[in-house]
Amino acid sequence: MLNFEEEIVETASEAKPKLHLMPTPVAQANPANQPSVSGRVNVLDKRMINGQTDVNQLVPFKYHWAWDKYLAGCANHWMPQEISMSRDIAQWRDTNALSEDERLIIKRNLGFFTTADSLAANNIVLGTYRHITAPECRQYLLRQAFEEAIHTHAYQYIVESLGLDESEVFNAYQEIESIRDKDQFLIPFIETLTNPEFKTGTQEADQQLLRSLIVFACIMEGLFFYVGFVQILALGRQNKMQGAAEQYQYILRDESMHCNFGIDVINTIKLENPHLWTPAFREEIRALIQKGVELEYKYAEATMPRGVLGLNATMFKEYLRFIANRRCQQIGLDAIYQGATNPFPWMSEMIDLKKEKNFFETRVTEYQTGGALSWE
Ligand code: FE
Repeated sequence: MLNFEEEIVETASEAKPKLHLMPTPVAQANPANQPSVSGRVNVLDKRMINGQTDVNQLVPFKYHWAWDKYLAGCANHWMPQEISMSRDIAQWRDTNALSEDERLIIKRNLGFFTTADSLAANNIVLGTYRHITAPECRQYLLRQAFEEAIHTHAYQYIVESLGLDESEVFNAYQEIESIRDKDQFLIPFIETLTNPEFKTGTQEADQQLLRSLIVFACIMEGLFFYVGFVQILALGRQNKMQGAAEQYQYILRDESMHCNFGIDVINTIKLENPHLWTPAFREEIRALIQKGVELEYKYAEATMPRGVLGLNATMFKEYLRFIANRRCQQIGLDAIYQGATNPFPWMSEMIDLKKEKNFFETRVTEYQTGGALSWE
């Protein structure tokens, strides 16, 4: 068995180009005490954060769930321009087809989401990706980053199709208070991870990373998106803006997987680093989730000053509390809001859609496989 010094000597004597983006494996740290060859990854040595194994070696798999989610994400592939916006455009132009309150919902929704998915993409690519040392998870994050790009593309496609004022929509995150407040809450946690000086490896830094991952998965993707999803999908259920609603339905399915992936990462980091999950840290996370519920509820009130589509802000208060409890339970925290129930049970059908039978039944999606591609 090679020890670490021998490994360095061998690498140096062979003068191979150094491709590793992380340190090479430390053979003597192999808990199974199995023979290993320099540079080859032992699955037992892999770690979610602060790992010492070569991040370029995807297999052997340790985190099978991450690979499974990568495959599921690919199987769910969709593109915005496949969905017709012609009926939406006709409804948007027809002064009788949509009320002012419904138009406000659509504009505010796009105002939040256009920049939210860009924030999400930047957070992954410039932040999360480099701190996660499990290659299976990096593989999923690459897929996730592309899905965030598809979501931004979808919002741009809707804005362009409807002929909305682009600068108004894309600047809403700076100009509309209820949107700005949500983004200002998120930005410090994103900046922690994207700061080039930030490195994990200490209790404080690892807790900072874990805190940012929880804010991103449980509050941003797991809470801040849900008022908007309910609103647009409620429009679709009433035969309004069905092209936009269908795209939101695909986005909801993607985001639901992003949220579940993030929760699996969080729980794995907790398992591998139980010292990070202190009582003080848990209380801090519960307080952040409560703050997230408050901000999202303010957003619900601001986007729906009156009841609309059979929805009202009070229903959202209950819904957000229900979701917040679920997020707490998913990461091993006690529920915050006792007895909260789900006023929108139809949302689970929306998340569980099958691609070939989408909820609005507007089209069947088929994708070309490699063998079916035509080069003419
Ligand atoms: Fe996402």
